[in-house]
Amino acid sequence: MWKEAGEVRRIGRRQLVTQVHVNVNDLVDQVRKAGIATDYTCPTCGGHIHITGETLATLRNCQHCGSVVQTTDLVDFLIKVVGYQ
Ligand SMILES: [Zn+2]
Repeated sequence: MWKEAGEVRRIGRRQLVTQVHVNVNDLVDQVRKAGIATDYTCPTCGGHIHITGETLATLRNCQHCGSVVQTTDLVDFLIKVVGYQ
């Protein structure tokens, strides 16, 4: 367990984000702390979904078309927004 954690630290965060294991809660936390407000474009209907730390915590569906927001897509987007560091 601890040995594995050491490995991850050596690899560094930059590379870590390319492996799917990003903690969503971490990202939500960063968005909230940084006071980021942005728009996520729904891949299904192209509608803009307003995103803040508060809305993120409960965001599950597009407000416009009701399609499920994929966590992996959202994570990709958030990583770019917060520059994950
Ligand atoms: Zn939509």
